[in-house]
Amino acid sequence: MRNLAESVRIGHGYDLHRLEPQAPSGPGRPLVVGGVRLDFDRGPIAHSDGDALLHAVTDALLAAASLPDIGQLFPDNDPRHESQDSRDFLREAGDRVRALGWTIANIDATVILEKPKLSPHKAAMRSCIAGVLDIDVSRVGIKGKTHEKVDAVGEGRAIEVHAVALLVRD
Ligand code: MG
Repeated sequence: MRNLAESVRIGHGYDLHRLEPQAPSGPGRPLVVGGVRLDFDRGPIAHSDGDALLHAVTDALLAAASLPDIGQLFPDNDPRHESQDSRDFLREAGDRVRALGWTIANIDATVILEKPKLSPHKAAMRSCIAGVLDIDVSRVGIKGKTHEKVDAVGEGRAIEVHAVALLVRD
């Protein structure tokens, strides 16, 4: 058994996407959060599918293993990632941390979004993340918050996500 400091790693991830009216009235993409498409009239401005929850979780995992971040691994000026399903980024991050010998102990994320309500979709989001990473759903936590109508997030002009991931190894 290694000493504790060599056996655990925590990583933090953060993401924000501006929300704009969806086509045909604006440039916003469909609103996808945690792999779940939400019925709403605004959506993210993004090169990929703009899934802020999956981007933050991807970065938390990569950060915990001291790997390059999502912007370095999947540059947003690379045409190969245009409209890309962010589950691909998350899967790649999971594969990379496992290749270094880490086990994903748990993930916790806070999604800050004024509308629509996340609570009816949280179970599906947890299942999606757990499924992509091939871990038990009990290892994935998601909390939804509003921004109390203040600032850009509170005015519905952005979605913001904070996430942490804990990695362990024997
Ligand atoms: Mg992003």
